[in-house]
Amino acid sequence: MRIIKSYLNVFNKIIITVDDPSQFKSYNLSVKNHEIKLNIKKYSIVDNNIILTLYEDVNIKKNCYIIYENIKEKVWYYPLYSTKEFNDKFFHNCILGAIYNKYHTIFRLWSPPASEVKLILYKKVNDKKFTIIDKILMKESNGLWSTSIKGDMHNSYYNYEVRIYEELNEVVDPYAKAVSINGLVSVVLDLEKSNPKGWNNDILPQLDNYNDAIIYEASIRDLSSHPQSGTANNKKFLSLTEKNTISPSGLSTGINHIKELGITHLQLMPIFDFSFKSVDEENPDKYNWGYDPQNYNVPEGSYSTNAYDPICRIIELKTMIYHLHQNGIAVNMDVVYNHIYDGFNSNFQKIFPDYYFRFIDKDTPSNGSGCGNDIASEHLMVRKFIIDSTLYWAKEYHLDGFRFDLMGLIDVETMNMIKNKLKNINKSIMIYGEGWDLNTTLPQHLKSTYTNAPKLEDIAFFNDKIRDCLSGNIFDIKDKGFIMGNSLMEEDLKKCISSKYILVSQSINYSCCHDNRTLWDKITLSCSDENIENIKKMVKLSSFIILTTPGIPFIYSGEEFCRTKNGEDNSFNKADEINWIDWNRKDEFLDVFEHYKTLISIRKNHYIFRTSNMVDLKNSLNFIENTQKNTLSFIMKDVSNKDSWKYVLVAFNVNKTEKSIDIPCGKWTLDFDSNNIDKKGLIIENRLLLKPLSSYILYIKKG
Ligand code: CA
Repeated sequence: MRIIKSYLNVFNKIIITVDDPSQFKSYNLSVKNHEIKLNIKKYSIVDNNIILTLYEDVNIKKNCYIIYENIKEKVWYYPLYSTKEFNDKFFHNCILGAIYNKYHTIFRLWSPPASEVKLILYKKVNDKKFTIIDKILMKESNGLWSTSIKGDMHNSYYNYEVRIYEELNEVVDPYAKAVSINGLVSVVLDLEKSNPKGWNNDILPQLDNYNDAIIYEASIRDLSSHPQSGTANNKKFLSLTEKNTISPSGLSTGINHIKELGITHLQLMPIFDFSFKSVDEENPDKYNWGYDPQNYNVPEGSYSTNAYDPICRIIELKTMIYHLHQNGIAVNMDVVYNHIYDGFNSNFQKIFPDYYFRFIDKDTPSNGSGCGNDIASEHLMVRKFIIDSTLYWAKEYHLDGFRFDLMGLIDVETMNMIKNKLKNINKSIMIYGEGWDLNTTLPQHLKSTYTNAPKLEDIAFFNDKIRDCLSGNIFDIKDKGFIMGNSLMEEDLKKCISSKYILVSQSINYSCCHDNRTLWDKITLSCSDENIENIKKMVKLSSFIILTTPGIPFIYSGEEFCRTKNGEDNSFNKADEINWIDWNRKDEFLDVFEHYKTLISIRKNHYIFRTSNMVDLKNSLNFIENTQKNTLSFIMKDVSNKDSWKYVLVAFNVNKTEKSIDIPCGKWTLDFDSNNIDKKGLIIENRLLLKPLSSYILYIKKG
């Protein structure tokens, strides 16, 4: 008989999977929990499984083995971690990490398998050197280790020493709110001291409906890494606090540009501490987007002016957020709770082996993230960690929204709990993410995917359908989208416009983001024989559709002046020269920028484009039927009575020849013509002429 695997089911039950259970002889079997022999009370056989019930519980602080005819097989504990028995014994809902006040600091670390945990207190000798002052033995209660240190611990450096099985690991507190350079030592801070002037009176922008938002995605670094970005604090949080920054030709850059464009929400690519192996905080020459979480609750050091001083990055990030809020711009944070950098060498793994991750089977981690470790959000203490972390950022940093990277890997219950708790703090908070269906061990109905959107009310999803309709398949350079004249996309695009796939309040409509090629590059590669003027017109068509379609529009920074990465498909670790926003292009493509700016302003001024419920949308939106090929037109009626317009007519022509459409009776006023954005007020009746590669907005006023 061959043993395939053995695992712990509840504390006193071991399941042994074998090839041929008929050969099983119970007298040949023994169970050892480290040195202690455990007595078998009974056993039963179900299919290929031998189910052992023991007289006593397995002590999970020690390894357990089954020994059968001189073969020793380690018992796998992992299946136990999702059981009620495990949670009843070890789940704790208290505050974890270093809990500071002026008189004492409490330290709490959760680690059921640890047999000993010590708090290591360090003294900082210089920026790079720390010496141990003391090691303090912590006390355990059902897996929760704690100690309290008297006195004002502000600016104290610490780590934990955790003994698990045969190993002794030093770890950074996963709940650390501050860290040393490169995130290698935890730091206690009096966070009051990190608040910039005015912070307690910070006014967060209000948002009634997600559909009122216009999201703009940017990396802190890309916004100011170009030598002509006009900022002094290049690549730093503080670059977004500089007033009146301009390009060499005198056009606004940085926050001025963002304000001028008129977007409502700035979505920042990772600003939490990402791995020093991706970007060395001592010498941040190397570029990385930062989807490599190291310390979840700490800002990234390379974006601060002094990464050696733990409080500096916190003050500077808060200052930046405060400044954006002062300018009426909300700040959404990109969060990456689906995997951690180098998971099996992470603090999580050293504190509680395997608990934080998903496994397909023993020795086979689940890998839906493509990073080798899917975080097990369904495990209660992992779920708690993710919820605590998100709430901490929302409260401490006054963030206005969260964009969940690979949200499809997180379970539905965790996402709904996060949403409920965040909405309790601030009703305006946005929660959205990538609902891709990836191959993780979570059952299909529990994944936070696009198809499960009905189970995730008030959580929005990136709509890749509209993206592909507009600019073609991202994995196929030659594939063309509707704006490039691919008429096969027309029906699907109509479904996207009328929210047939997903609720209008849950659809984030975009044509490109940090992943894959920029819109400019995708069009240039897909239409390689096209001239620049026509490519510009296609960019305008794409943004026209995104900004007039019901849903939540999303713009990738620089898209509005034809950002290029020289055709690069995945620039996550490419040089600044590839990733930066070249502000000279704003001058070169100023008409494209003005086009975006005008449409954003129209959308913000007219509720009719921002309908947030499906009943209204259904009663509001109608397509004009039987239009010429590659032209599309729809009319929306103001059913909510919140707009000064009674009807709006949206029309576009992706042909390279002039077309026309018959429009319904009435005197329509031209509000927008992509060929001449100032040509307002013209009265049009019966028939609208559509210039090649052009777009139009017409309206009929109330009364
Ligand atoms: Ca870092």
